[in-house]
Amino acid sequence: MNKKPYIERTKTLKRSHDYRRRYFEHDKGWQIPPSVQGFLLKVFPNKAFESLYFCPYCGRVMWDKPKIVVDHIHSIRRVQYTKHLREHFKTLPDGVNHISNLVACCVRCNGKKGKKGGLWVFRGIYGRYFMPIIRLILILSVLTIVIFLAYGTTVNA
Ligand SMILES: [Zn+2]
Repeated sequence: MNKKPYIERTKTLKRSHDYRRRYFEHDKGWQIPPSVQGFLLKVFPNKAFESLYFCPYCGRVMWDKPKIVVDHIHSIRRVQYTKHLREHFKTLPDGVNHISNLVACCVRCNGKKGKKGGLWVFRGIYGRYFMPIIRLILILSVLTIVIFLAYGTTVNA
């Protein structure tokens, strides 16, 4: 008989209503100084500027809080379907909504990730420490190449 995998739907394995609020209470990001906030508000009057966050998946800098997504590093569906993850999260007070399983990320990466595991989980946990640097290196290399192509060959011409 082809049995469907058993999905446990206890409270600890469900999305909670307050995980977003709890995440931002815990992780204040990089605070933007009030003087800079005032300046930014003049330029973009309808945005919310408090602090900067870095997407752990792509390294993008995020400053518009309403647009920041709080992602479950081990996605809820994945946890419901995977025995060892279920066992692990059942031991935590907030289950899958425990702070250790939450991370602020950009909308784009959240959409791409879905319920994938593996490298996405690794980046979810450690990406904030190295993805911004990788992104900066990539941007600088592209800039260098562009500058070289534009001016590099015309020297002494
Ligand atoms: Zn991202």
